[in-house]
Amino acid sequence: MSIAQEIAKIQSELAPYSSRLVVVTKTRSIDELLSVHATGTIDFGENRVQEMVDKQQHLPKDIRWHQIGHLQTNKVKYIAPFVHLIHSVDSWSLLIEINKQAAKNNRVIPCLLQMYIAQEDTKFGLDKREALEILQNPDLAHLENIQIIGLMGMASFTENPKQIQQEFKQLKGLFEMFKAQNAGVDSKRVIWKEISMGMSGDYLIAAQEGSTMVRVGSAIFGPRA
Ligand SMILES: *Cc1c(COP(=O)(O)O)cnc(C)c1O
Repeated sequence: MSIAQEIAKIQSELAPYSSRLVVVTKTRSIDELLSVHATGTIDFGENRVQEMVDKQQHLPKDIRWHQIGHLQTNKVKYIAPFVHLIHSVDSWSLLIEINKQAAKNNRVIPCLLQMYIAQEDTKFGLDKREALEILQNPDLAHLENIQIIGLMGMASFTENPKQIQQEFKQLKGLFEMFKAQNAGVDSKRVIWKEISMGMSGDYLIAAQEGSTMVRVGSAIFGPRA
């Protein structure tokens, strides 16, 4: 199937749910990205800052660039002028830096807190206590150039759909708990809106479990080199 056909298939599978597709374009060529753009899909996810910046310069300006991979503090400045949503906020110091660089660019950058949900110790992310520390930090109200709009998580790398479903339920549960508690909401820097979960192997499970955004790459383009 062509890129356009793969995207159409995934869009139709997602149609019954309230989950939007972010096409993960890391390692793919400019021509491949242009094929995606030609379908009308404008949410692109990248995990390397340098690659996102290079591509952003060559591609149509209506594309919404999502930073989905681990973000180093010293690289925030390169994406701050244009990034649409940072999915991978995993520390208070990163949030401070995003706020600073967003202020320099006169904008508010939307962010998700990346939560650790996998049964693996290789993935980045916050646990519930660490997330609450950020959400309850009295200085959060002063970070006027960021807005936390939800959570992101990655399930374990496993073939076991029950385990993946369990991990997505855990993320959705955290989201609902923070939302019910109005965690961080008094700071005016938090609104509980988005759950970024689901990748090529598990996007349908994620959509069924309440994802609002799935991040899909290889199911569209084939395996990465
Ligand atoms: C690469 C990546 C994806 C997409 O992975 P696929 O298996 O190719 O769909 C999603 N989320 C993050 C954070 C990634 O790094």
